[in-house]
Amino acid sequence: MKLGDHKKDLGRCTYCPKLCRFCCPTAEVEHRETVTPWFKMSLAERLRSGQVSADADWAEVFYHCFGCLHCRTHCRHEVDVPGALIQARAICLEENAAPAPVLDLLKRQQSTGNPFGEDDLRKKLHAVVDEDLFVPEAQVVVFAGCQAIQEASRYLLPLQKLIKGLKLDYVGVYDGEQLCCGAPLWQAGDFDGFRAHAEQLRRSLSEARTVICPCPTCAYVLGTVFAQFEVPLSAEVLTLDAFLGPILARRKPARRLKGSFTYHDPCYLTRYLDRGKEVRELLALVLEEDLIEPPYHGEDATCCGGGGLVPHILPNVAQGAAELRAGQLAQSGAEKVITACPGCLRQLEGASSASPYLTLEEILLESYL
Ligand code: SF4
Ligand code: SF4
Repeated sequence: MKLGDHKKDLGRCTYCPKLCRFCCPTAEVEHRETVTPWFKMSLAERLRSGQVSADADWAEVFYHCFGCLHCRTHCRHEVDVPGALIQARAICLEENAAPAPVLDLLKRQQSTGNPFGEDDLRKKLHAVVDEDLFVPEAQVVVFAGCQAIQEASRYLLPLQKLIKGLKLDYVGVYDGEQLCCGAPLWQAGDFDGFRAHAEQLRRSLSEARTVICPCPTCAYVLGTVFAQFEVPLSAEVLTLDAFLGPILARRKPARRLKGSFTYHDPCYLTRYLDRGKEVRELLALVLEEDLIEPPYHGEDATCCGGGGLVPHILPNVAQGAAELRAGQLAQSGAEKVITACPGCLRQLEGASSASPYLTLEEILLESYL
C-alpha cells in the first residue's frame, strides 16, 4: 500500500469539519490544532499531491498519533487515519526528513532487535519461563513479543502457570532469533526493514500451526500486517483470549473473583481485532459481579498513550494520554482495573500512584487454579 492508495480518505479529511477532533488523544493532550486528525491528514494530502515535499521541519507532525483508531469510531466514512500517516512517515524516512528520535529508535531496533534498546531481552524471557517450555518443534507456540517480555512477571509467569496447570502440554514458547514482532519498523515507516524482519520471523515460525500472542499489537502485526506486506504466516494467529476462551468455557473456575472490576480496552484488541465482546464474555466467567464500564469503553475507549511509538518519541505526550485514561478508569469507581495488553499496563501503572491494575493472565490464573 502507498500514500496514494489513501487518496479518498485524505480528501474526505481535508474537507471535513473535524468531526473526530474531540476523541483524538494527541489533540486532547497537546491542545494544538496541528496534531488533530484533520490537520495531520491535510498535511499528508499535500505531501501526496506534491504541493509540498517532505521536510524535517514539519515531518514530525506525522508521529503525533498513537495509531489508536479512535477517530474511526466517530468518522462516518471510517477513514483509516493511522494507516495513511504510516505511509506519510515512510515517504519522510525515504526522503531523509524523519525526526531524530525516530532515527534513534530505528538504530536501537537494529542493534538490539527491540525498541527499548534492551540487550538482555532473551535473558529476561529465560528468567521467567521454564526451560521445558522452549520446544522448537511445538506446533502451538506462544510468541511473547518484546513488550510482554519487558513485563514478564505480570504476563509470562501467570501464563506459564496457566499452561501447566490446565495441562496444555502441547503449547511451547517461542525462543527464536526475533523476539519483537517488528511493529516499530512498520509504524516508523521503515518498510524495507519491516519486510526483512517479517521474512526472518516467518522462517522461524514455519513449523507452527498456531501462534498465540499475549500482546494484541503482536497479534495484529503477525496476523494482518505480515499479509499486507505479502509475507503471510502459514500459522493461525490468536490473541490470548481467543486461544483460552473456548478452553476455559468448558471448565468450571475454581473460584469467582470478588470485588468490583473495570476493564481498559486495548486499541489493537478491541478496535483493530474486534475482540471487545469476547474478552468481556471471558471475564464474565470469572468475576462475581458485573464488570463496571468506565467512561469511554469498547469501540469508544480512550487510548492509554502506549501506541504508535509515541512513548519512545514523545514521552510527555504519551504520559499525558496515560493520565487522561487513568483518570477515566478511576471515574468508574471500581476497585481494580483489568488490562489485556502489556503496553497498556506499563502506561497506566506509570500514570497512577495506586496500582490497582491486573492483567488478564493474572485474573484467569487466580480464578482457575
Ligand atoms: S477521520 Fe473522518 S471525522 Fe476525522 S477528520 Fe477525517 S473525515 Fe473527518
Ligand atoms: S489514530 Fe488516535 S491518535 Fe491517531 S489521529 Fe486517530 S484518534 Fe488521533
